[in-house]
Amino acid sequence: MRARQDQDRGEGGAIMWYRRDLRVHDLPALAKAVAGPVLPCFILDDRLLSRGRFVSPARVGFMLGCLRQLRSSLRELGSDLVVRRGRPEEVLVELAAANGAGTVHWTTDVSPWAIRRDRAVAEALDAAGISPRAHPGSYVVDEPGAIRSGQDRPYTVFSPFAKAWDRVERREPAPAPTRLVPLPGPDPGSLPTVEELGLGAAPATVSFEPGERAARRTARTFIEDGLADYAARRDLPAGGTSRLSPYIRWGCLSPLELEQMLGPAEGEGTTAFRAELAWREFYAAVLLNYPEVVGREFQPRYRGTLQWQRDDRLLEAWKAGRTGFPLVDAGMRQLLAEGWMHNRVRMVVASFLTKDLHLDWREGERWFMEHLIDGDVASNNGGWQWVSSVGTDPAPYFQRMFNPMTQQERFDPDGEYVRRWVHELAGVEREHLVRPWLMSAAEQQEAGCRIGSDYPAPVVDHAEERRFAVERYRAAAG
Ligand SMILES: Cc1cc2nc3c(=O)[nH]c(=O)nc-3n(C[C@H](O)[C@H](O)[C@H](O)COP(=O)(O)OP(=O)(O)OC[C@H]3O[C@@H](n4cnc5c(N)ncnc54)[C@H](O)[C@@H]3O)c2cc1C
Repeated sequence: MRARQDQDRGEGGAIMWYRRDLRVHDLPALAKAVAGPVLPCFILDDRLLSRGRFVSPARVGFMLGCLRQLRSSLRELGSDLVVRRGRPEEVLVELAAANGAGTVHWTTDVSPWAIRRDRAVAEALDAAGISPRAHPGSYVVDEPGAIRSGQDRPYTVFSPFAKAWDRVERREPAPAPTRLVPLPGPDPGSLPTVEELGLGAAPATVSFEPGERAARRTARTFIEDGLADYAARRDLPAGGTSRLSPYIRWGCLSPLELEQMLGPAEGEGTTAFRAELAWREFYAAVLLNYPEVVGREFQPRYRGTLQWQRDDRLLEAWKAGRTGFPLVDAGMRQLLAEGWMHNRVRMVVASFLTKDLHLDWREGERWFMEHLIDGDVASNNGGWQWVSSVGTDPAPYFQRMFNPMTQQERFDPDGEYVRRWVHELAGVEREHLVRPWLMSAAEQQEAGCRIGSDYPAPVVDHAEERRFAVERYRAAAG
């Protein structure tokens, strides 16, 4: 939704409605809201948290941590975070009426669900005589969906989009407020735990400290220590990327400010990193312009034509990281333990699900959304459709069939990543780590890893499945 131009109604103060923009730095909505007294609020919406398409205790746990941090920052600035539970179109009208707010500010979002919600909220506010105001702030550019080709069409291929994205003029970052004048009155309400929200227990291992402060620290450390080598190291699952995605997903870090923190666009590291930020904006644009990708293939020729198999045993093996392919298993276990997975491994496990196990990409999309703390409808859907060759990627399907063994040889040659996550393989010699099933009985004994009991034998034969996948895709593409 574009920011509205008409005059704000009502004098009074404003509500800053936080959603996935959990920060105080470079937040245009907040910068506008602080022109007078402000009431920052967050609304826990059960339709998203516990009943939505993609319920995720891990992601909600991370979000609650970010909210606690945000509340403490707002308190330091003289205000607070008012927390409510309910439907935003009702809660916001009530809050505004009870506290004398004439305007509600928020940051735009791109998912079809969020767009419908925001429309309903804007209508309810309008009807109550309160001004709804939507602002940019989730992307480097204000409106990724508005970037169009010379033929006035949305881009459907990344490279030309990225070139056009590069040329879009950036807005000035919004100043962080130094003091907030609170709208007096409301009881701030308490922030629940994941358990109190009825979502069961959040995963015990939390490798990402939530909140804006940790986000800014992680960004600074990465820029100082990791950016120069990023292009060379970004594909190594054992380390080399920024691990900023949960912060970007939850808006603890402004993508625009992050781009500016990189400094001049020089050097391979900076160029490569900016390209990744552009991928995120590309997928946001795809979702905005083609909302039907939620649930179905971007490429019409694959809609309903690809034969997916159903095999619960294989699906469960994939989810649990027990496929017998060490790189796949390491990735799936990292996902369960950390709520995060390295990009290269996301591609490998997604290819394995769709092209080795022939299971529907939507199963993988859902599993990722249930577990990723950076789970984002646009990037996740885009990533899954890319890997399963049904999305915007112009490369033919047979060029995107990842071999989990050669990927491991190239990107985890010493087995550092695999050993970190697949503990049964800790004692296996380096030369057997890619294909542990080829160890002799004596070697298995020595490594303390019996294939088929301590660690699974491979659930499929990759070469055979690759041939079958080619047939399936060829048949579907016609
Ligand atoms: C099947 C699949 C599913 C994915 N699901 C998600 C998801 O739900 N949420 C998500 O944020 N990313 C997703 N990605 C993209 C990517 O894997 C993660 O953004 C990346 O691993 C995050 O690690 P990082 O912050 O260290 O990345 P870095 O390499 O340091 O990149 C910096 C930032 O750029 C953005 N970015 C990087 N790569 C991509 C990409 N391919 N697509 C979109 N944005 C990117 C992220 O915001 C990331 O934090 C998915 C990729 C695949 C293949």
